Amino acid sequence: MTTSLAQTALDNLLEEAKKAAANSYSPYSGFKVGAALRLANGTVVTGTNVENVSYGLTICAERAALVRAVSEFGPEIRIAAVAVANLNDAASPPCGACRQMLAEFAAPDTLVIFPAADGMTTMPFDQVLPLGFDMSLKKTGKIEQA
Ligand code: ZN
Repeated sequence: MTTSLAQTALDNLLEEAKKAAANSYSPYSGFKVGAALRLANGTVVTGTNVENVSYGLTICAERAALVRAVSEFGPEIRIAAVAVANLNDAASPPCGACRQMLAEFAAPDTLVIFPAADGMTTMPFDQVLPLGFDMSLKKTGKIEQA
């Protein structure tokens, strides 16, 4: 499903992420990030980073988009593609927390496009988060049940 996404769809998703970055609330870092999720049904949901004076409560654009998507469309959503952009001309791959949160709704072939140190990068989700936490590990016998 996701690997058949046309390049134009990914380009459009990236544009939506950039638009969302313009709404960033980032008075402390000035780092303006936007994320756009393309759901399996073709719907695009965006989010931006929202900082807080306590810093630790800051939420990333990817998680903001994810929470918005679940809030609007329910727990059955599936993510076909994720685009991340920023207005700072900097690298901004999804952080570890966002990768783990996205894993809940992504497939191994969900495409993730983001600015890396060496330019825009597109890779499947299973490369973005190869060893995410997964309770189903207990089914493989790798984790003993108490
Ligand atoms: Zn994050």
